[in-house]
Amino acid sequence: MESELIAKLIVISGPSGAGKGTLIKSVLPSLDNFVVSVSATTRGRRAGERQGVDYHFLSRREFLRKVEEGLFLEWAEYGGNLYGTPRDFVDAALSTGKDVLLEIELEGARQIVEHCPVAVGIFIAPPDLQILEGRLRDRKTDSEADITLRLARACDELEAVERDRAEGGLCFDYAIVNDDLEQASRELLTTIQQIRAGNTAR
Ligand code: ADP
Ligand code: 5GP
Repeated sequence: MESELIAKLIVISGPSGAGKGTLIKSVLPSLDNFVVSVSATTRGRRAGERQGVDYHFLSRREFLRKVEEGLFLEWAEYGGNLYGTPRDFVDAALSTGKDVLLEIELEGARQIVEHCPVAVGIFIAPPDLQILEGRLRDRKTDSEADITLRLARACDELEAVERDRAEGGLCFDYAIVNDDLEQASRELLTTIQQIRAGNTAR
């Protein structure tokens, strides 16, 4: 009963190119009283990305100052850039009863899911690595060098999740394979609705 009254922190993770952003966009119109955290990053802005909307774009120096001040709930290095979740935004939303969604890489997701009692983890996996590579290339947002880094990181992340699962230390409550977009989107919406209703695996 109590779990229905406590706001949830929903952590979505998975390799770059798996379709996290696309799936999140597709379910947002069906969710109310729900906010998506905007991360800080030192990565350069891609065409069309807006400051404060897609990310808070910071210099490395600004980012590291915020780390020292304890302003991130979690942060991690990814592909040579730093990414972090602003603590004040998440705390403020949760304290007013709003559920919060984070879209972050594996290291950060583990930190949150393992240490935050109201966090629930959803892992989005690609059907396979070849399809993932095709999606990263077709997206046309990353250089060849970045795609190579992202694919290497994807292998590490998929292996780590599999290892966690085999050892019984799984940090994700749910996993969705994003093959058919419509089906994966329906699955994500149902999963989030279950979590919000308090029917989680934990
Ligand atoms: P992520 O946020 O995980 O990095 P994106 O949402 O940017 O991934 O998706 C990567 C690319 O794959 C995008 O160009 C997106 O349009 C495409 N995509 C996402 N899901 C699917 C799917 N189920 N089938 C085909 N293409 C997809
Ligand atoms: P991209 O450069 O494609 O926008 O993001 C690269 C990776 O960083 C993705 O896996 C994305 O989920 C992750 N990411 C985005 N914001 C954060 C954050 O605040 N913290 C962590 N740990 N990862 C993040």
